[in-house]
Amino acid sequence: MSSHKEPSFRQSVDLMFNRAVALMDLPPGLEEKIRVCNATYTVRFGVRLRGHIKTFVGYRSVHSEHMEPVKGGIRYSLGVNQDEVEALAALMTYKCALVEAPFGGSKGGLCIDPREYDEHELEQITRRFAYELAKRDLINPSQNVPAPDMGTGEREMAWIADQYARMNTTDINARACVTGKPIGAGGIAGRVEATGRGVQYALREFFRHPEGVKKAGLTGKLDGKRVIVQGLGNVGYHAAKFLSEEDGAKITGIIERDGALLDDNGIDVEAVHQWIVKHGGLTGYPDALHVAEGAEVLQNECDILIPAALEGVINMANAAGIKAAMIIEAANGPVTAGADDILREKGVVIIPDLYANAGGVTVSYFEWVKNLSHIRFGRLQRRQEEARHQLVVDELERLDKYLGDAWTMTPDFKEKYLRGADELELVRSGLDDTMREAYQSMHEVWHSREDVPDLRMAGYLVAIDRVARSYRAKGL
Ligand code: GLU
Repeated sequence: MSSHKEPSFRQSVDLMFNRAVALMDLPPGLEEKIRVCNATYTVRFGVRLRGHIKTFVGYRSVHSEHMEPVKGGIRYSLGVNQDEVEALAALMTYKCALVEAPFGGSKGGLCIDPREYDEHELEQITRRFAYELAKRDLINPSQNVPAPDMGTGEREMAWIADQYARMNTTDINARACVTGKPIGAGGIAGRVEATGRGVQYALREFFRHPEGVKKAGLTGKLDGKRVIVQGLGNVGYHAAKFLSEEDGAKITGIIERDGALLDDNGIDVEAVHQWIVKHGGLTGYPDALHVAEGAEVLQNECDILIPAALEGVINMANAAGIKAAMIIEAANGPVTAGADDILREKGVVIIPDLYANAGGVTVSYFEWVKNLSHIRFGRLQRRQEEARHQLVVDELERLDKYLGDAWTMTPDFKEKYLRGADELELVRSGLDDTMREAYQSMHEVWHSREDVPDLRMAGYLVAIDRVARSYRAKGL
């Protein structure tokens, strides 16, 4: 494989799929049914901007409807094309199956550079795109539920939700037509940082299993590990921030569009983020070494490499030079199938995208459930939980008095224990549980089968098996 031409993104996903199904005993018809993308809708629409009609091209691709609604983000980027959207939709199918989010896979994209338009223009364009998709049920709470992706965020999701609600005035579940909305428009606490948080939980779980850590040639926990992150967008920023602030990892490199920052003692992620917000790039940041050739830093020495931007950044041209002990794919498809082969031979452990970045869709699932249940998580039980905890604290206080100096309550125990969980804590707990369970299902396959060489293949095996079961249950 490595001597061949670089496959396209969709071919890469198909190759990874084929590698896994070769080990399964699926009827050929079913194998084909799962692999193919069910439908891709292309829309061309015009919006009057600055006195002229500008035509935009957008896509919504539905990969698999074994479960509905189908789910997946909407990307705004000039690089959007049918091949990319279909590859991303397929990844959504496998991702949802792996983390047991009850959705089929879908993805959308609009060919646009959002930085070329002001907020009002973007709203007009987004509403028009949403209108085109909603009228074909490609946005719909029970059929197809988009979310943010590269180039989109809470703001765009709020416009989409409002556009759908205007077109479906009697739909009581209208808010569930899209996830990743701002809290005030039906969003959920913790969604913005969910994908980055998921990357952190995935790494924590990886380091709980010594076999995997050993395969990567590493020891110990996350503390002190040297991390290079590529892309300080929503996912990369949150992952790097949490890993450095909460797990003691050292961010020794940050790669962005305009070069890279390096510091072996660790870079202050929050300070760099603030700098980028203010100056539009990392050039000029005073507290780290700046190098102009950012992409080359992917090949620098480090323990953990986190590609958190585009697909295909680690490919057959640079894979042989990668020195990281392990890679966690925070982006979708950052390692091509060709590079995957080279890295496997080199012994680099890869935590694959379908697992590593599933935190976003997991919390999207919680948001969708919240919208359908029309109640904030924790609203019913929080005070009742506090009242029950109060009973225990009262008893402990009695004991405290009785025992005098022999025993006293730990100072902040009372406050910590009394507090019932709010929505954010529940979301984090649900995400942590999901990431642990999904890792364990991959880990079991990886370590119990001689013929499964890596986590990616294990992830695909678990996911495809679940999709196949769901088709079989339908009588296919
Ligand atoms: N765009 C994100 C992804 O690639 C999130 C999808 C979602 O929340 O539906 O997983």
